Amino acid sequence: MPSYQPPPLRIAIIGGGPGGLGSAIALSSLPNVVVTLYERAKELREIGAGIRVGNGLSGEIVKESPLSKYPIRYHPQRVRRTRLQSALISKVPEGVIKLNKKLVGLEDLSENGVKLTFEDGSEVIADLVVGGDGIRSDYDPRVLEALSVVPEGHWKEFSAFAGPRLEKLTAWNEKIVLIGDASHPLSGAFGSGATFAMEDGWILARAIEYSRGVGGNLSRALEVFDSIRSPYYARMYTHLDEQKQKVQNSKATNQGQSFELTLRTRIAAFGGEEKLSWIYGNDIGEVWSDFLRTSEKSDA
Ligand SMILES: Cc1cc2nc3c(=O)[nH]c(=O)nc-3n(C[C@H](O)[C@H](O)[C@H](O)COP(=O)(O)OP(=O)(O)OC[C@H]3O[C@@H](n4cnc5c(N)ncnc54)[C@H](O)[C@@H]3O)c2cc1C
Repeated sequence: MPSYQPPPLRIAIIGGGPGGLGSAIALSSLPNVVVTLYERAKELREIGAGIRVGNGLSGEIVKESPLSKYPIRYHPQRVRRTRLQSALISKVPEGVIKLNKKLVGLEDLSENGVKLTFEDGSEVIADLVVGGDGIRSDYDPRVLEALSVVPEGHWKEFSAFAGPRLEKLTAWNEKIVLIGDASHPLSGAFGSGATFAMEDGWILARAIEYSRGVGGNLSRALEVFDSIRSPYYARMYTHLDEQKQKVQNSKATNQGQSFELTLRTRIAAFGGEEKLSWIYGNDIGEVWSDFLRTSEKSDA
């Protein structure tokens, strides 16, 4: 007698940034899933290239980044965004990416999943919606006013958005999960948003795989995902709050302080890579192994 094969899990990913593409790769490798990525753009392309400039007024070294003590695989690599994107796209199975599909509506169909409506009027139903639609632009009017006096073509626009800090990355009885910039409004802090987004996608795939292995459902998988990623983002928020507080305290005790002192205070407050090794040295494979070890212990 043939063994019962449950219907495939229908996963809809919204957004073709590093988070969406990374998730499409990780989730497509699971058995018995149908993954579709919907991207609003007509073609997948990156606008601009973010760079980090290390510079100073006098050339005096204020702080050195002791990255050399980390193994080479943890060192930041500079890569053109287009190359990262091409590399990711090349690993997404054919037919998964649907372009020119702007999501405009979601409806909770209870145990029947989620209905997605697109701008072109088409609709699909999915069991799980992965929100990887990034940050939204919300420029301050003063910024817009300043930009209006710069001749067209002489400035570059990047989305910048700070939204509410989420305590939970899942919703609708575990049918929706947010990844990447959509889940944590870090506004570019840490300069690692693309990594965070891809880590989210990888952990999501591991959580679904694990939950199936122990006879759990989608709800269990998303609980596992949230239990790993929410505390990580909460730790980042705490760090940002502490950093802000240190700068405010310094300003209060050093009224009229020089630019030099403000700069040193800010650098000291941020902490540098060595104090943020839990971010810059984060080994996502090890994070998952830790989860498995902890689960085994609690099951024993
Ligand atoms: C100037 C700058 C410099 C940066 N430098 C770095 C760096 O050095 N290193 C680093 O790791 N990170 C850096 N970041 C952050 C990084 O770019 C983001 O964290 C990362 O792109 C987040 O990936 P994502 O997939 O979550 O979202 P995004 O890359 O924003 O992708 C979201 C996608 O969703 C699509 N979308 C949106 N709405 C819809 C909809 N309704 N329907 C369908 N599709 C939709 C969008 O078109 C887009 O393709 C920088 C950001 C900026 C602005």
